[in-house]
Amino acid sequence: SADASTEIERTLAIIKPDGVSGNYTNPIKETILDHGFKITEELFIQLDEDHVKSFYAEHSSRSFFPSLVEYMASGPLLIMVLEKGNAIADWRALIGPTDPLKAKVTHPHSVRAICGLDLQKNCVHGSDSPQSAPREISFFFERTSSGHVSKHDEL
Ligand code: ADP
Ligand code: MG
Repeated sequence: SADASTEIERTLAIIKPDGVSGNYTNPIKETILDHGFKITEELFIQLDEDHVKSFYAEHSSRSFFPSLVEYMASGPLLIMVLEKGNAIADWRALIGPTDPLKAKVTHPHSVRAICGLDLQKNCVHGSDSPQSAPREISFFFERTSSGHVSKHDEL
């Protein structure tokens, strides 16, 4: 558990279409909880291609972008907000490197090593910085007077 000097953070986790269809949702959620994260929001949703393009806008000039957009819109996603001390870096460490085939060698206990299929179908997403985490969380969830609600109806 976090010591007093560790700031509580929130980060965005996504189980991608290959993770959902591969039945990794429950084992990954167990792993998340075993590592001391709270899952404070959950949304099971399929995005259309325009929403995926918006979410991954930073990659829009990359050659893999059209394929990434098609893949991320190909099936339902499980979107989660994870909370604990140092959540952003700790969730990135737990999921491992982007390429599952490399992760199997260098980080064999990481989520992507265990559940990922290839460089694109790598099972999970994690916010990469204190800048991206709040932006990505607010893509899916907004705070209201009654607490957090999903933006599902607007997506
Ligand atoms: P990460 O998800 O580890 O932060 P990136 O932000 O670089 O990785 O890329 C976003 C996603 O795009 C990756 O998780 C993966 O699904 C896909 N991707 C990244 N690089 C490639 C590539 N060279 N070829 C195909 N897909 C890729
Ligand atoms: Mg990234």
